[in-house]
Amino acid sequence: MNPIRAALLAMAGSPTWKKLLTGWGATHRVVARFVPGETLDEALEAVRALNARGLKATLNPLGENVSTEAEAETATEAYCEILERIEADHLDCNISVKLTVMGLDLGEDVAARNLSHVLQTAAMYNNFVRIDMEASEYVGRTIDLWRQARREYPAVGTVIQSYLRRSAADVDTLAAEGAPLRIVKGAYAEPEDVAFPDKNDVDAEYVRLLERLAESDALAAGSAVAVATHDPAMVAAGRRLIDDNDLVSWEFQMLYGIGANLQQELARDGYRVRVYVSYGPSWYPWFMRRLAERPANIGFFLRHLFG
Ligand SMILES: Cc1cc2nc3c(=O)[nH]c(=O)nc-3n(C[C@H](O)[C@H](O)[C@H](O)COP(=O)(O)OP(=O)(O)OC[C@H]3O[C@@H](n4cnc5c(N)ncnc54)[C@H](O)[C@@H]3O)c2cc1C
Repeated sequence: MNPIRAALLAMAGSPTWKKLLTGWGATHRVVARFVPGETLDEALEAVRALNARGLKATLNPLGENVSTEAEAETATEAYCEILERIEADHLDCNISVKLTVMGLDLGEDVAARNLSHVLQTAAMYNNFVRIDMEASEYVGRTIDLWRQARREYPAVGTVIQSYLRRSAADVDTLAAEGAPLRIVKGAYAEPEDVAFPDKNDVDAEYVRLLERLAESDALAAGSAVAVATHDPAMVAAGRRLIDDNDLVSWEFQMLYGIGANLQQELARDGYRVRVYVSYGPSWYPWFMRRLAERPANIGFFLRHLFG
């Protein structure tokens, strides 16, 4: 692994670094660009502001990998509360959830039960739930649980990561099933036999996956695709495919605070744009992983920290 990335991932799990960096006012200023707050109220306020600028949103309370069923249930209730508040506040917003937060490490039955509860709540409000994709060890189980849930609740989608060697095959299968898919490059540390180590291959695969989806028969049924990236080359490929094939159900997605000008430009040009808003008190490890994603991001952080 790239040594800088390894160091940042180690810092993400270090209480000493956490204390040092979270106690530093400058870090909070930078983090505020990516995480609008620690409470649901603050996150909803950010969503309201995005909606006012013509941007849709998806909300994600920060957190991963719980170790007890009680924690999984608490997290599940929190997802349901977000759906209730989105409805009450009439926001153009759905939610993005993680199966490890709903107890996937404790058993597929635990995660399936909790996911079903969230989907039932979403169905009541006619809203949509996206199951985020986590590390490769969870991919097969995430797709299985998505498939199981989809039989009862149609408004649920998942995510495909272009760095995974298996993704082309997954896209073909899932597109045939009409799965709403978000396409990302992938954010976890993966071994070379599982994921392409070279960024050029990940980028080329990203475009290939979009092309496969655009050609897919599933589009006849209006399968919704989310082109989730801040990379101008990937965005250009998405625009070309949407324009050439008149893909009205496709949208762009970007993270809160990243590529804000590009988000606005796409919305101005008439594309659907959704901003992924993460919030919550456990921002430290999430933020460090964002920095570790690509070495180029460290420069981004430093420029904003000292700029
Ligand atoms: C809406 C959304 C949902 C996501 N969901 C998932 C998921 O479920 N599972 C998963 O594995 N991954 C997810 N990701 C993360 C994704 O896998 C990538 O790690 C991330 O988007 C960076 O890749 P990129 O496509 O922006 O391209 P890159 O080539 O990494 O970046 C292109 C440019 O964008 C800017 N940029 C990108 N990332 C950052 C950052 N963190 N901080 C600052 N600038 C940045 C930089 O200027 C960079 O040069 C999601 C991303 C988005 C946008």
